[in-house]
Amino acid sequence: MQALRQIGQISSSKYIGIISRYLRIALYSTADMHCPSPSIGITVKKSCAWGPFKHSITAFWRGDKSNTSPRLRAILSNRRIQWLVGKVALITGAASGIGECTAKLFAKHGATIVIADIQDELGQAVCDAIGSSNSIYVHCDVTKEEDVKNAIDTAITTYGKLDIMFNNAGIIDSNKPHIFDNEKADFERVLSVNVIGVFLGMKHAARVMVPVKTGSIISTASVASNIGGISTHAYRSAKHAVVGLTKNLAVELGQFGIRVNCLSPHGIATPFSTKKFKLEAGANVEEVVENVIHLTGNLKGVKLKTDDIANAALFLASDEAKYISGQNLFIDGGFSIVNPSLNNFNPTSLLFFFEQ
Ligand code: NAD
Repeated sequence: MQALRQIGQISSSKYIGIISRYLRIALYSTADMHCPSPSIGITVKKSCAWGPFKHSITAFWRGDKSNTSPRLRAILSNRRIQWLVGKVALITGAASGIGECTAKLFAKHGATIVIADIQDELGQAVCDAIGSSNSIYVHCDVTKEEDVKNAIDTAITTYGKLDIMFNNAGIIDSNKPHIFDNEKADFERVLSVNVIGVFLGMKHAARVMVPVKTGSIISTASVASNIGGISTHAYRSAKHAVVGLTKNLAVELGQFGIRVNCLSPHGIATPFSTKKFKLEAGANVEEVVENVIHLTGNLKGVKLKTDDIANAALFLASDEAKYISGQNLFIDGGFSIVNPSLNNFNPTSLLFFFEQ
């Protein structure tokens, strides 16, 4: 380090920058380089691929980028790696919360976005924040087939294709202590957005994806798709249905190379959840929601944010998840796989008490 400093007259921060860049290159070289192994007739990952790797870096710095993978190109150009370059995504419920955050993240990763929602002003604002060159807002009530059809057709007529369909719009009814307090109309309203809306999104996305034999369909379910008693009857039924639809459609569309998955987040502070809390004036409702989820959750020291759901959606939407289909991905820090009252590792659990 001393010698390098003397030779190059470079500052230590520059030095660290150079070293970390080379380390990243070295790291990614193993992920990027695939060499044919004639002896066994297959392609194997080769960590000792320094020769061709060095050749592709040298060529890159001489201006020939044809020999480097997009990931390596991004690192060599000191750019953030973009996972959705050239892809077109339609996101329902993108005017707010998880959908808004995902739309912005997808756009950062190079995708073009169709923002579909019923909150026109907010939806347009998200579109303006992303930029009109790579996003468009479409009014779309997911309970209406003509609206959903129109949103998908807008993606095709404006951008020529649809690679990613994110059925994210959702609502919840107010909590009632007994089933006999529930109105049929409320039950139907929740199912019409959370289930019929997802069904229509899947149906019209499949209509345009099947002929081109590619695509990724993602829907937002919930931890309520697995855990009882944490939401209303209508909401829980709806989120179970989203998982059912996801699995059935993954089977049907597998033959066309189309992947179908869903996400199951734990509670996050968005208008969806914060409006359920009636707090004193001045209280920070987002903080209260995050603290409640943290307190009752399994994973400590981190708080669930909309970015975490957007990142999971990004992964499922990208080619990095090219062999993942039919899955319900929980983003809940392990909340849905533990019963806290019978937890061998928790001194306050009943099981711990019996074992002493
Ligand atoms: P949000 O209220 O911030 O966003 C929901 C969006 O859906 C809004 O922009 C709303 O206008 C839109 N929408 C509602 N009805 C619609 C309709 N008929 N047609 C089109 N758009 C409609 O809430 P969020 O938390 O971002 O919720 C997104 C999804 O995440 C929902 O499916 C919800 O069930 C799910 N979810 C939320 C939480 C949470 O705690 N926030 C947890 C698990 C799952």
